[in-house]
Amino acid sequence: MVGYHDGVDSWTLDLASGMGGSFQSFVSLHERSHQALHETTAWGTAMTILGLVPVADQPDRASRFWEWMGRGCRETHEQFATLAAVESSTEGLNHLAGNYAYLQYYRSAVGLLAPLTHDVPWVAAADLMYRLVMSPAWLLELDLSALLDCDHYTSPGTTPDEALTDLRHALSDETTVTGLLSAMAGQPTYGERWDAAALALRPHGIRLHDWAAYEAWVPAIILEYNKRRGRAVVLVDSTTGDPTLSRIEAMQRERLTLHAGPLALTWAKAQNPGPSLSPAQIARTHEELGPHVVLAWLHPEVLRKQSVGVPDAWAAPRLGLLACDRRIDPSLLLWVDFDDAPPSVVAASIRKTPFAPLLMTTLYTLQASDGSIDFRGWAPVFVSVDTPIVEFLESALSREEVLSYWVLGTGGSRYLNHVVVQFNDDSALNFVYTCSVMTSRAVDDWLTGKEGVTRRSAEEFTHRAGLAAFIEHLVGSFWLLELGRWPAAPPEQDGPLPTG
Ligand SMILES: [Zn+2]
Repeated sequence: MVGYHDGVDSWTLDLASGMGGSFQSFVSLHERSHQALHETTAWGTAMTILGLVPVADQPDRASRFWEWMGRGCRETHEQFATLAAVESSTEGLNHLAGNYAYLQYYRSAVGLLAPLTHDVPWVAAADLMYRLVMSPAWLLELDLSALLDCDHYTSPGTTPDEALTDLRHALSDETTVTGLLSAMAGQPTYGERWDAAALALRPHGIRLHDWAAYEAWVPAIILEYNKRRGRAVVLVDSTTGDPTLSRIEAMQRERLTLHAGPLALTWAKAQNPGPSLSPAQIARTHEELGPHVVLAWLHPEVLRKQSVGVPDAWAAPRLGLLACDRRIDPSLLLWVDFDDAPPSVVAASIRKTPFAPLLMTTLYTLQASDGSIDFRGWAPVFVSVDTPIVEFLESALSREEVLSYWVLGTGGSRYLNHVVVQFNDDSALNFVYTCSVMTSRAVDDWLTGKEGVTRRSAEEFTHRAGLAAFIEHLVGSFWLLELGRWPAAPPEQDGPLPTG
């Protein structure tokens, strides 16, 4: 499994296998298309809500209903996502060589839409047909509490995959095809095309909601859901607005796994680290940077995401020397703990040793740190971006800060790209968003031409050796890269908050 959509609101690429190049982008596109179909349909919205309600707040049958909904749209989803990925990437079909199941999805999709694609572009045909089958009329009769109370044993209504079978029959009927084509060509707005197409399918027993009902139902159920605790659902408006913004808002949902799982944490207090955690054992060397240690300022939740065995008592951001040991099995994450000692003091004392301190933290950690933390003498600092980057950069730009950014690739075994951002010409503080190639392109497209934003060339980046070492440590010790999904919002600071 190289990628999967969680059926809720995000997807994951498994990069542990070293998947790169155009295949990585193909998988990104495929998974992103699942998300697009989910977030722009009633069926997908209902599944997102059912999937996000905290287990403690919902009856058992809500999760069983979610599973039933997932089974009921699998064929529809895979056909759409596979078609979209093949048609949008240059080597699309080559990536499916030998993959019988997905070739079959592709062929089914092409066959389904063939009666339409002589006259309309495949994008328009696929967008409308697959969204229509994800839109049974019965679903819109449910409000939030009725949805959470649904029981699939009562056969609430047709599923997308059932509607897809009916649609296939309908498309073999010439009158219906003519009706659909004139719906797509003759109506000025998306909503009018939708209603005309839904009407053309009605004689085949396909009961779909009309557009106005959807436009009323979606915001209402999302608003109702968002009053509850737990992760918020974001209302996506796919028909208007800045397409580069909606693309990056979707792409920043992408999660990357770099290893099979989190490491076990081995830690000790700095006063008495023991031989296995002495600085010499923790130190690493890097071609250009020479011998160094990673001095990390991390929120314990960051450590909990990346490793198991973090003490329950750790509640606030703390300082430590960080390394991982992959020569032993199972591999370990090593942490020499300085508690909340001032980073500048510890950095100064490390500089008296043969090792240079490489300073590392994360955006979530900084947003949860109190403003008195002394980072003087930390230069350059690399801040791994681990809360939504759109909100972070938009908030900076709204404060009229100017920013420079670079899109850098570091090759390596994971084929990652890094979007590095500096604010107000301060080259000491580097925010690094490590992501897939497809996601870095989405950030790039979104930032291009924005006021106050300058894209710089790789030659203008002055911390190449430091960044390369930072990336090596990040990829070595972290197993999961994602934005957001923190258990609780950190205390409010002057800056954007993660969505929790
Ligand atoms: Zn898929």
